[in-house]
Amino acid sequence: MTRHVLMVEDEAAIRDMLAFTLQAAGFRVSQAADGEQAWQWLQENRPDLVLIDWMLPGLSGVELIERIRADAELRTLPLVMLTARGAESDQVQGFEAGADDYVVKPFSPRALVARLQALLRRQPADGAQPDAAEHLRVGPLDMDLAAHRLTCEGREVRLGPTEFRLMRFFMQHPERVFSRAQLLDHVWGEQVVVEERTVDVHIRRLRRALEDVACPDCIETVRGVGYRLARLD
Ligand code: CA
Repeated sequence: MTRHVLMVEDEAAIRDMLAFTLQAAGFRVSQAADGEQAWQWLQENRPDLVLIDWMLPGLSGVELIERIRADAELRTLPLVMLTARGAESDQVQGFEAGADDYVVKPFSPRALVARLQALLRRQPADGAQPDAAEHLRVGPLDMDLAAHRLTCEGREVRLGPTEFRLMRFFMQHPERVFSRAQLLDHVWGEQVVVEERTVDVHIRRLRRALEDVACPDCIETVRGVGYRLARLD
């Protein structure tokens, strides 16, 4: 199955190099030169993944990510941030905004392709959806696996793809405590090199989304151990 990537990058030379690399790896590639162009394109098209440069004229990469994550139709799109900024605080900012992964420039084409493939492997492929009747229910939480939708007492919890997978894992193992390393293994996959503090960032985002629907304290921190889904009656 050919996966379709939208690449948002303002520098033509980098765009050409990326398009060549991704097409050689079997991806279908669409291109946008800035955030507004990407946003317009996304109103009509649905890629499997969006690769977004941080530094863009006009709408920044972070702003584009925030806009996508706030959109009911687009928010489940896997997003990868491309950044020249290696500083850890900037990467955390990218995750906070809603990126699922980031790649620091300069990067090797092979490493980039591996990251994108790893992220796409974690997404349910079309046609491989769970049974339409499949729901996970814990206390007031109801996760519709086919529709990729979580509600708390009927109110929708707006989650990006990584938070959704994290929450699905917690709901499959209610009240069990998992260390950050265990969560990385189960939710991110062992082939992916992500720092353990990335887990904390996604937990924060998950908690914020749950607070938005007045369902706080679902995810508990167990000091010195990790996280768990609280007992919910
Ligand atoms: Ca740029």
